[in-house]
Amino acid sequence: MESYGLSEQGPYRAENQDTFRISPEGIGVLAVVCDGMGGAAGGRLASDMAAESFTSFSSISLELSDGSEDEDILRLAVTAANRKIYEFAYDNEEYAGMGTTLVGGVFRPDRALLVNVGDSRAYRISRDGITRLTKDHSLVQQMVDAGELTYEQARRHPRRNIITRAVGTEPFVTSDIFEAPAREGDIFLLCSDGLTGAVEDPELHRLTLAAPDAESACRALIDTALARGTRDNATAVVIIYGKESADNAE
Ligand code: CA
Repeated sequence: MESYGLSEQGPYRAENQDTFRISPEGIGVLAVVCDGMGGAAGGRLASDMAAESFTSFSSISLELSDGSEDEDILRLAVTAANRKIYEFAYDNEEYAGMGTTLVGGVFRPDRALLVNVGDSRAYRISRDGITRLTKDHSLVQQMVDAGELTYEQARRHPRRNIITRAVGTEPFVTSDIFEAPAREGDIFLLCSDGLTGAVEDPELHRLTLAAPDAESACRALIDTALARGTRDNATAVVIIYGKESADNAE
């Protein structure tokens, strides 16, 4: 299994509030992408705290698990991250309201288990196509679900950045879990909306498949988002099944 991650601030933002972590686990890979929000340094801090807390909680628990508890571990890891950020903001007034999206996954040899809160996404990519595995917790997604917007209208909607769930903004958070089969040649992409806002799904598919390895895939995706003039931070983590090689795990 080969993995790589890349995050770029982009020319329009004062700081990069996106964070990612990739850590190799006993059998497989654990990865997470967070997209923070909040004034002062709150957004950056929230995404860092969430990614760190999620990764350390999951790593310890996965070490002790045979795979049957992956779903519980991911949910609890999100709950732990939520609690950590919420309590910090509660104790430090200047950080009030800070929060972050989170999309994370445990990538086992035969399957991937994903967890998400907010509008960062996970995709499964193969020769056969691209599947969005997670569902955004966003205002425009709710409007699409209610039949008020088409997907195309949602992409251009002025309030497309409003998320309806975040990690750290409330005492409790509900996360969603998604499972996908995985086999050699499958590629998983975790990313922030700075990428998906600028690059549409068919192109994510094309760029990822055309790249010779995970690092090139991340570079191609992020470069394309920046070339399109994304006004946001952009982050991609790519996991490719069936290749043995080093990665840039943090
Ligand atoms: Ca963003």
